[in-house]
Amino acid sequence: MHGLVQEFTYRRDEMVQLLRQLVELESPSNEKEAVDKLSSFLAERLQALGCEVEVIPQEQYGNHVLASWGEGEPPILVLCHMDTVWATGEIKKRPFRVEGNKAFGPGAFDMKAGIVQAIFALEAAQKRGLVQRRIVFLFNSDEEPGSFSSRPIIEELARKAKVALVLEPSVPPGALKTFRKGLGRFEITVKGRAAHSGADFEKGISAIDELARQVLKLHQLTDLEKGTTVNVGVFQGGTRANVVAAEARVEVDMRAATLEEAEKVVKEILSLKPELEGTEIEVRGGLNRPPMERTPAIVELFNHAQALAHELGFDITEAGTGGGSDGNFTAALGVPTLDGLGAVGDGGHAVHEYVDLEYLPERTALLTRLFETL
Ligand SMILES: [Zn+2]
Repeated sequence: MHGLVQEFTYRRDEMVQLLRQLVELESPSNEKEAVDKLSSFLAERLQALGCEVEVIPQEQYGNHVLASWGEGEPPILVLCHMDTVWATGEIKKRPFRVEGNKAFGPGAFDMKAGIVQAIFALEAAQKRGLVQRRIVFLFNSDEEPGSFSSRPIIEELARKAKVALVLEPSVPPGALKTFRKGLGRFEITVKGRAAHSGADFEKGISAIDELARQVLKLHQLTDLEKGTTVNVGVFQGGTRANVVAAEARVEVDMRAATLEEAEKVVKEILSLKPELEGTEIEVRGGLNRPPMERTPAIVELFNHAQALAHELGFDITEAGTGGGSDGNFTAALGVPTLDGLGAVGDGGHAVHEYVDLEYLPERTALLTRLFETL
């Protein structure tokens, strides 16, 4: 076994202990107070490692933590999100536990194990003394809902960075992410006219009828060959069976592989027109995350990581995903981005979520070598 992998193998229990602490500091995106506790915990830990640390206060979401260590420009940007999709109290239903090589607990895989890797890789890199440039870490608090407050910070840091490394979980069984679809979100509301469905049927204009027609048009925008999907995930409307519905609304999720396609589909959704006379349609929303396209610079960065993995004695593969991350923002700015460098495991956003601890040492070793060679 390579010495660096061996070192992290010796320290595996310590890493699991930190993972336990992070998981037990529950941090749902919409519970600022809870996330702030995790921000403070990380800020202290990074300060103890000699980082220059700035806690960026937020009103709605948890405070972001920015940490910087080392010298040499342009820096390496490392992105980790602290927030999870799990409400506080989930830990009581699913306490952190280790069974064999698997660690379970809310947010362990997405992406608290990635934070553990970042901290241990930094510490190892500091001791080895081979890092040639500054490393900037951003721990943001609002990735899951769409990074509304952290996006400008991420983009500002990315513009100055040489590369962006994203510690999101890998694609099972361990692939790095070199491609991500872009995603858009929309809310569409239709107004019709209410009437008694028995006495005055002709006077009513059904918002549900109108919106149902729009849903069919929306779903026809899906083109699986191109990787474009449009999903109406929520449909609400009407009040009673015997009332012609005056109002209806849908929530729509759109994914596309290229910016060109994404912009085309967004335009079509924004320009939906009513079919039934007397109805009104309002479309709100747009592209939230631009696609992370697999550019030559991203391929080169992946090849570099793969060569490092081979030196360390293991192989890594690459894959794409329909899910978005903060890597979408950095890649869209032309910054070579490698995503999915975090945990091996499965079940992100699901109750069977777990981290495969067997791979934690080698993933951390790979991150250390990336810090030393980029
Ligand atoms: Zn995530």
